[in-house]
Amino acid sequence: MSQDCLLLNGNGRPLSYLPLSVITWKTAIKLSIIRSVIVIKEHKDWVVRSPSIEMKVPSILMLQSYHPFHSYVKFSRSNVFLRDLYTCQYCFDVFEKKDLTLDHVVPKCKKGGTTWNNVVTACKTCNIQKGDRDIRPKVEPIKPSLSRLIQGHQISKINFPDREWDKYIFQS
Ligand SMILES: [Zn+2]
Repeated sequence: MSQDCLLLNGNGRPLSYLPLSVITWKTAIKLSIIRSVIVIKEHKDWVVRSPSIEMKVPSILMLQSYHPFHSYVKFSRSNVFLRDLYTCQYCFDVFEKKDLTLDHVVPKCKKGGTTWNNVVTACKTCNIQKGDRDIRPKVEPIKPSLSRLIQGHQISKINFPDREWDKYIFQS
């Protein structure tokens, strides 16, 4: 996905972290034209021209007001992998995404939920060995904190088109 512009909530923090709230340059231009956002920063050498307008592509936009959300962290397969940093929570080895699976600590057949507190990253071998047995992961699973997410995000930091983004994403 093209990540041209970082979209901030009215409080100056990203609208969401996982996935990171990034939008394409076209959406960024549209939003600034209808003035529903505040332009924090523009890309230095990136100008778009049409017969009627010429403008710099925004690099960072902020919503005019704060929109509260219940959670910045969406429960999903890839976010669980990210929380556990691609480490099997039973043998503690690191694996590629394709060799990992999600494991219900309390099995579904025993009414274990599909939640942050009951789902962990497991390699396929451990997942099969565990089956429906009562084995606990090495680390108790919890909903990831913001700092944990930020740690996860540093992995893909190199993809940011603008160094200035760091300041908004990694603020404490
Ligand atoms: Zn394992």
